[in-house]
Amino acid sequence: MAPVRRAILAAAMLAAAVLLPSAALRGSTAAQPPAPPGARFAFLLTGPAGPRILEVAAVAAPGRPADPAALAAAIRAAHPGAIPLPPRSASAAYVLDGVRWRDPLVPWYYAPAGAPPSLPPGEAFERIRRAAETWNGAGGTPVRFDYRGETADGPGCRGDPAAVSYTPDGRNVVGWDEIPGNYLGYTCWVRSASLVEGTPYFELLEFDIVLDPRYPYTGDLLQALALHEFGHALGLGHSDRCPGAAMCAGELATVFTEPQPDDLAGLLALYGRQPPPSLPRRALVPAIARD
Ligand SMILES: [Zn+2]
Repeated sequence: MAPVRRAILAAAMLAAAVLLPSAALRGSTAAQPPAPPGARFAFLLTGPAGPRILEVAAVAAPGRPADPAALAAAIRAAHPGAIPLPPRSASAAYVLDGVRWRDPLVPWYYAPAGAPPSLPPGEAFERIRRAAETWNGAGGTPVRFDYRGETADGPGCRGDPAAVSYTPDGRNVVGWDEIPGNYLGYTCWVRSASLVEGTPYFELLEFDIVLDPRYPYTGDLLQALALHEFGHALGLGHSDRCPGAAMCAGELATVFTEPQPDDLAGLLALYGRQPPPSLPRRALVPAIARD
């Protein structure tokens, strides 16, 4: 019993998806319809690298019927032997997903293949890059996304098809692919079964962000969507303080192009404040020969 239980706790894989927002909702002062529930799944994976938890958070397309079961089935089908895990509970406002990076300097790559036809060449990447950089140092935290260049690797936490189950490729990739179930985008991440020392949060090992190129994006909408997904990639869940946070679920996930106070509170809870610049180094030991 104990080893089985440990294995289950040790291996989870999660993803979070954002529903597509309607253009009518953006910038409107009219009463907001209730946000469609954001899709949220977690799976226990086993493989040669040991148990892992895959998590998914997805955004749905506005005005279209979201089908979370279709997305969950597609993700599960890509991971033979994956075991669905129950959803976690939410707090009163910002919600943490219980994960963070050990080192808050997070590298990422852009996979340009399949970029949406609705934006001029280069603008899609520019908006995504801007969204990532908007999180840098947000709220006084040491968080920083570090762009490393383009990659031909597709995003999506698909793992190695030749492997028995998921083996992370170790690369954080943002890119384009058609998503089942009328979702605009999703973030998936793989975390360790171990906590980051001195924190109650499991260590993030890898994330990927998948965006559906078929939606008629505006630059602002894409930037807001990417901001939301990068928030998941830092460990933020869907806020309960909605509308009013970039981490709100559903169509509300595409409203803000900058983190809001609730988002920053969550980020501070995860990473704390950036320590002040270190003072000039002084010798801490007498300047005498020691060996
Ligand atoms: Zn989300």
